[in-house]
Amino acid sequence: MRVSQFPLFTLRGVPADAETVSHRLMLRAGLIRQLTAGVYSWLPLGVRVLRKVETILREELDKAGSVEISMPTVQPRELWDESGRWEDMGPELLRFKDRHERDSCLGPTHEEVITDIFRREIRSYRQLPCNFYQIQTKFRDEIRPRYGVMRAREFVMKDAYSFHASQACFDRTYRAMFDAYSRILDRAGLEYRAVEADSGAMGGAVSHEFHVLAESGEDSIVFSTESDYAANVEKAEALAPQGARPAGTETRQLIDTPGVHTIDELVEMTQIPANRMVKTLIAAGEEGPVALILRGDHQLNEIKAAKLDGVSAPLRLLTPDEVKDALGVGVGSLGPVGLKVPLYIDRSAWHLADFSCGANIEEKHFLGVNWDVDMPQMRDDRVADIRRVAEGDPSPDGCGELKMLRGIEAGHVFQLGVKYSKSMNASVQDETGGHLYPLMGCYGFGVTRIVAAAIEQCHDDEGIVWPPSLAPFQAQVVTLGASRSEAVAEAGERIYSALKDAGVEVLIDDRDERPGVKLADADLVGIPWRIVVGQRNLAEGKVECVQRTGREVQLMSEQDAIAEVLRAVKPSSAVQRASA
Ligand code: ATP
Ligand code: MG
Repeated sequence: MRVSQFPLFTLRGVPADAETVSHRLMLRAGLIRQLTAGVYSWLPLGVRVLRKVETILREELDKAGSVEISMPTVQPRELWDESGRWEDMGPELLRFKDRHERDSCLGPTHEEVITDIFRREIRSYRQLPCNFYQIQTKFRDEIRPRYGVMRAREFVMKDAYSFHASQACFDRTYRAMFDAYSRILDRAGLEYRAVEADSGAMGGAVSHEFHVLAESGEDSIVFSTESDYAANVEKAEALAPQGARPAGTETRQLIDTPGVHTIDELVEMTQIPANRMVKTLIAAGEEGPVALILRGDHQLNEIKAAKLDGVSAPLRLLTPDEVKDALGVGVGSLGPVGLKVPLYIDRSAWHLADFSCGANIEEKHFLGVNWDVDMPQMRDDRVADIRRVAEGDPSPDGCGELKMLRGIEAGHVFQLGVKYSKSMNASVQDETGGHLYPLMGCYGFGVTRIVAAAIEQCHDDEGIVWPPSLAPFQAQVVTLGASRSEAVAEAGERIYSALKDAGVEVLIDDRDERPGVKLADADLVGIPWRIVVGQRNLAEGKVECVQRTGREVQLMSEQDAIAEVLRAVKPSSAVQRASA
């Protein structure tokens, strides 16, 4: 390809509203343009990267036994009524009416449609298992679309769905898809972790997310220093403290705490550490407010708390005004002693003796509180794991400690059970002629998101540094001052043709632009190999061969530069040429 026919659309300035590196670089390198909030066009260079991702996905999914299909984006309400999700899904589901006043939606995911295809086409357990995938546009009306294509409203997903007659069969496919995802990310050349994840409302114990590691990741993942344990922080269990609760030695004492409304302020005033305090949060519940009690230095895990009986999901904490109305006291003075609403106590808070907490009286706190003395009615059936694990906590599998990293969720593999096959009546005949509701698995992968995630991980100050398997081109030829020097123009063309003829995906920057502009664009766009032809070097029979990682420049002859690039990007053909 020639830049004269394959426009680059690079930008010099830094787009003001792009917060993350990948969003800025995707705009500046001319991969994407925003049409409206969370909706993007893909420009020529971006499309080439998408095609690379799709090729890797297709090859690995085919290998895992998944078969490609393509389902529509527009989906009728009736299917969503059957699964119950027309009601259950919030405003993320974009609904509309057509000219006949029929309700429809834009597919945010395709469980309903695939289950409908399945029930029409598959009759017998003998036809199981089946496993289908598609690479297709999704629409989710995200509350906060941001970071460019990382969290968009319209985006491309690879989604796969499998159907099974038995758990053992499901487990085999799950493993195959898990392995396929690992190979996909290996081939993409990205550093990633597969972690245990929360299965959300879908139920089912098995769920893994694949996270591309990056500082800017929206998710926190934890892993053990000594075992294979790795989980999304939402999922990771906080073990109960070891041993019996220490015996209390103090008696409860009421103290004045004017102006104290937070744990930090109480620590400051009393000089008692936060890990000997408890804090009280009030969440909305199905039959009125519910109190959640945590150790002062711990954070609430909203996903865990929302699963408790009587707590509304998704979790919502009451506003300070709502708390005051419901309990007659401000949020800064709440505590478990004498509180008039049902409580859940985190395991670590339950293990405390002689602790401090709010007294449920404005600007007063208790010191020296003990569960057995001051709240003897409290039973351990109100004790639960409701906190976020922290770095240094023991690993839930008993080996080592937890460390934290930030990640970008690229993919999610999931057990759906019979949720859709049952609600949509997609049964098949079993061995005895009876009905069997197949177990389903679903497997999502963010095709557009992975491009942004790759850039978050692979860039430097000058621009993108593509992992070779995702790069839009393998090599680039840049001529400097070709309009003034026929020799430069000719050498550029010779190198370009030689690489192209050898099957290299090569781009030649044949624009009549200043050298500074062309070299800055080349760095920004991040193609792994670059051969720069300039008049001065050419006079000495040399060109520059530059690898984008590290940007190390080697001066060599035209032939050597071509051989160097071929060796790197086409190892097999370079060997053939050498032996020819
Ligand atoms: P998240 O927690 O990031 O919202 P999710 O759990 O909603 O993701 P899934 O429904 O499992 O995501 O979708 C499968 C994959 O699709 C995700 O792993 C992610 O790579 C991609 N994806 C999901 N939502 C978006 C989005 N708004 N923009 C771009 N990609 C997305
Ligand atoms: Mg989501």
